Amino acid sequence: MKIPFSLPVIDEEVIAEMQDTLTHTGWLTTGPKARALEEEIRQFTGGEAVLCVNSWTSGAMLMLRWLGVGPGDEVIIPAYTYSATALCAMNMGAKVVMVDVKDDFTIDPAKIKAAINEHTKVVLPVDIGGYPCDYDTIREVLAAPEVKALYRAESEKQKQLGRILVLADAAHSLGACYKGKTSGTIADVTVFSLHSVKNITTGEGGAIVLNLPFPFDNQQELTFLRALALNGQNKSAFEKNQPGAWRYDIIDQGLKVNMPDLCASVGLAQMRKYRQELLPERKEIFEFYIKEFSSQEWAILPPYHDQYAESSYHLFLLRIKGFDEAHRDAMIQYISEKGVGVNVHYIPMAMLTLFKSRGYNIEDYPNTYRLYANEISLPIYNHLSKEQLRTVVDTVIEAYKAVK
Ligand SMILES: *Cc1c(COP(=O)(O)O)cnc(C)c1O
Repeated sequence: MKIPFSLPVIDEEVIAEMQDTLTHTGWLTTGPKARALEEEIRQFTGGEAVLCVNSWTSGAMLMLRWLGVGPGDEVIIPAYTYSATALCAMNMGAKVVMVDVKDDFTIDPAKIKAAINEHTKVVLPVDIGGYPCDYDTIREVLAAPEVKALYRAESEKQKQLGRILVLADAAHSLGACYKGKTSGTIADVTVFSLHSVKNITTGEGGAIVLNLPFPFDNQQELTFLRALALNGQNKSAFEKNQPGAWRYDIIDQGLKVNMPDLCASVGLAQMRKYRQELLPERKEIFEFYIKEFSSQEWAILPPYHDQYAESSYHLFLLRIKGFDEAHRDAMIQYISEKGVGVNVHYIPMAMLTLFKSRGYNIEDYPNTYRLYANEISLPIYNHLSKEQLRTVVDTVIEAYKAVK
C-alpha cells in the first residue's frame, strides 16, 4: 500500500466551485470568489479584516512593505522554521535575526528579548505544526519599558504602532487556539498559507488577518492593503470592469500579490466544511497517532493540546528518543522503502547553503538542532483511512526496531 505524505482535498464540492468559476462567473482573477473566501476565513477566525493573497511569502512581504520595513531594519524569527519565514524579510532588504526555540518547537521569548535592539521592527513567531507560540509572554517582552525605550519609529505606520509588530507566521495554524482566542485574533497581524500541503489550500495562496490595535482602523487598513496587493491600484480589474468605472489611481508603491478567483474557489469549497468536517478529521488522525505511539517508550510526542493552547493538527512531528541524524535518516529510508511518505520539518535554515553563506551557524541554535536531528513527520491529511493509518504506525514501529 502506497501512502503519500500529503494530499489536498479535491472532492465534488471543490470541483463544482471551480467549475462555477470557469463557466458561470466569466471572471478568473480577483473578484467575487476571493471575496467569498475572505469572508469565510473572517467568520471562521473571528478576525476583523481579511485579505487573500497569492502566497504566505507574498503576504508577509506585503505586511513588511506596509510597515515600511527595509534596509537597516531587523526582523526576529525562530531558527526552526521553513525558509520563507526568513526570505520574506531578506527580500524586503531587512536583516534576519534568528533565535533558538523551546522544547515545544516554538520561539523562545527570553531569546527574543536578548535579540532586540534599536533596529528591531518585527517579531515573526511561527506556530510550528499548528501549535501556537506563547504569545502572551512575547507581548510581555515587547511591553517591557527597557524594550519600548529602544524602539525607533521611522515610517508613519511604525509611529502609529509605537512598538515592535507581532506578525504571526500562521502558515500551519488555521484553526488553532490560544487562551480562548482563535489563530488570526492573537497577533497584531496573522498570515496563513493556503499552499497545496496546508490544511486548506488554493493551490498557492495566503490570507492576512488584521488585528491591529488602536489607533489603527482595521477596515481602513484593509482597503489600503487591497490596493497595495494590486500594484498600489485603488480599484481591482473586476471593479473597473463595471460600467463607467474605468478611472483609477496608483496610490502607493505596491506589490502584485492578489489572489485569483480560480484559486480562491478551491479553498472556498474546503473552507465551508473546515470546522464541521475537515479539522475534526485531522484531529482524529492526530489523536490516533498519539494513542498508538504513547505506548512506545522511544517515541517523543509533539505538543498539541494543553490548558492554554490547541493545535490545528497540521503536522505530526514525531521524535525518536536517543536517535541522532544518521539513525533518523536510516529510519526514514526504511519507511520510504515500504511506500509510506514521511518528511522532516525542518532542516534548520542555518544548515542550508544560502544561510550558511550569510554567516548563520547551526551551533548558535543547539535546541533547534536537537529537535531536528531525531524528527520524522508522519502523514496527516483528510481522507486517510483507518487501514492506511494502521500501516503508517506499524511501519514506523518496524523501522524503529530495524534501526535501533
Ligand atoms: C508553507 C510555509 C510557508 C510559506 O508558505 P507559502 O504560501 O508557500 O509562501 C511559510 N512558513 C511556514 C512555516 C510554512 O510551512
